[in-house]
Amino acid sequence: MVISVLPALAAQTETSGPIRLTILGSTGSVGCNTIDLVERNRSAFEIEALTAFCNVDLLAAQARRLRPNLVVVGDAGRYGDLKAALGGDGIELAAGPEALVDAASRPADRVMAAIVGAAGLEPTLAAVRHGRIVAFANKECLVCAGDLMMRDVKTHGATLIPVDSEHNAIFQVFDFDRPESVERVILTASGGPFRDRTLAEMATATPEEAVAHPNWDMGAKISVDSATMMNKGLELIEAYHLFPVAADAIEILVHPQSVVHSLVGYVDGSLLAQLGSPDMRTPIAYALQWPRRMTAPAERLDLAELGKLTFYAPDIQRFPALGLAREALQMGGVAPTILNAANEVAVHGFLRRQIGFLDIARIVESTLEKMTNRDLERIEDVLETDRAARRVAQELLQ
Ligand code: NAD
Ligand code: MG
Repeated sequence: MVISVLPALAAQTETSGPIRLTILGSTGSVGCNTIDLVERNRSAFEIEALTAFCNVDLLAAQARRLRPNLVVVGDAGRYGDLKAALGGDGIELAAGPEALVDAASRPADRVMAAIVGAAGLEPTLAAVRHGRIVAFANKECLVCAGDLMMRDVKTHGATLIPVDSEHNAIFQVFDFDRPESVERVILTASGGPFRDRTLAEMATATPEEAVAHPNWDMGAKISVDSATMMNKGLELIEAYHLFPVAADAIEILVHPQSVVHSLVGYVDGSLLAQLGSPDMRTPIAYALQWPRRMTAPAERLDLAELGKLTFYAPDIQRFPALGLAREALQMGGVAPTILNAANEVAVHGFLRRQIGFLDIARIVESTLEKMTNRDLERIEDVLETDRAARRVAQELLQ
């Protein structure tokens, strides 16, 4: 397990100077929060590379401030704009999917993997295959290629420090030296913006309503995933791969305040939790500096002022995505790859107003039904299945 190397690695990282950091997806919500922390702790980091898909203006502004060695734009068509914005600044510039992999492969102490969706798989894998410490936000990678990615993590001595707030919480309280003492893991879920809505109300929900998350400020895709609760389904699969626990020992618990970020239950009945205000800069700071702690500006919790925290069981009838994700995890093989690809297509269709909110889970379910499951042996199986599932989901979208 990754985990067995943690103490040695922790000791090794204690002694180093500034951390050389690459940020994949620097213009996104996690990327911008990462840069905010870097700028607040400027002497603690040197930036190797920054990447984005197409937001050249923001990427160039970030590069002018942080002076990375390399800047990459994923959309090859935007290379001219990137050159116009940064040419002559002495920063190496590149474009296209292979350049993203190159950026992820550059020498760095840590790589922040914050691209959204399966598009981040190959760059994130490249960082893993170079044995990096990866601050891991891009959960879709583990959903679509979990076993393969974790095999590479082991083979290449990489370390994944979870950024997702729930997994980061579990990482902080999990006894990796005695995994047999862990009985269960409890992933908390805010329930999203439609927590209290009926199915009839959800049927007419708009993209604007779906992305308006009550607690967290995040990118559009994960915000819609939170509204369908597919996000928690993806996190269930993410947790299964990150931690040495059985799938049926991972529970989901709705907790509207998003203060208890997740819990680990031990055989003696103890439950250990990590708490904090809902601000991604806390888990990101942890992943950037682990095993050290760095100052992060999240609002401090005032439990007396909060007064009470509430918890309840999730409703699988209103949020079928949760059940679909658990089924895909149980089916194994490429079922989670299909689930993830179909969900990405359906979420984009919903954001473009091609389908209704409840159609998202329907499309994922139909895509899973239409496709034949098979074993996941090589990364090509993931890429082929991802493409095929996107085609099927796209047809269902029409
Ligand atoms: P976002 O949409 O705000 O940003 C995504 C980033 O990826 C951008 O920099 C974008 O340019 C880049 N990108 C998108 N498509 C790309 C492509 N095809 N090739 C290369 N780069 C591409 O997303 P986000 O909300 O920051 O989420 C990033 C990841 O972190 C997701 O996997 C998400 O599930 C996870 N995550 C996010 C949060 C959050 O607070 N936003 C919390 C937990 C986990
Ligand atoms: Mg999360």
